[in-house]
Amino acid sequence: MESVTLILRDAGMRRTGPRQAVLEHLMESDYALSHQELENRLEGRVDRVTIYRILAAFEDHGIVHRVMDAGGHPQYALCSSSCKGHHHHDEHVHFQCNVCGNTYCLDEVAFPRISLPSGFVLSALDVTARGTCGRCQAA
Ligand SMILES: [Zn+2]
Ligand SMILES: [Zn+2]
Ligand SMILES: [Zn+2]
Repeated sequence: MESVTLILRDAGMRRTGPRQAVLEHLMESDYALSHQELENRLEGRVDRVTIYRILAAFEDHGIVHRVMDAGGHPQYALCSSSCKGHHHHDEHVHFQCNVCGNTYCLDEVAFPRISLPSGFVLSALDVTARGTCGRCQAA
């Protein structure tokens, strides 16, 4: 697994305590985290405005991508190493669990190709599957 220091260095960002803390929590989680979840986990260590700024900067530097949950709230997940700056390549299926509400990045699931009518140009494709995640299914 890539270290926090390496990810920040590759993105051209200076390592600060708050940035490191936010990144560590995103790396530890196997599902995407909302701003609120990060705020709860970092309570007393990093304030909410700083978390907002860090997430925006991480998105600008190709470290995290945003996924909207069913209620339209953004969740943040780590990018693949092919994301650089504003050019994100997070073409993978996202899975939203109806039970726990978590959103997972499924890198190993085949991403569909779609053919468009002539004259249409694709700039982004989001695929979100919904159902029950493995953890909830097993519970
Ligand atoms: Zn990305
Ligand atoms: Zn679940
Ligand atoms: Zn993702």
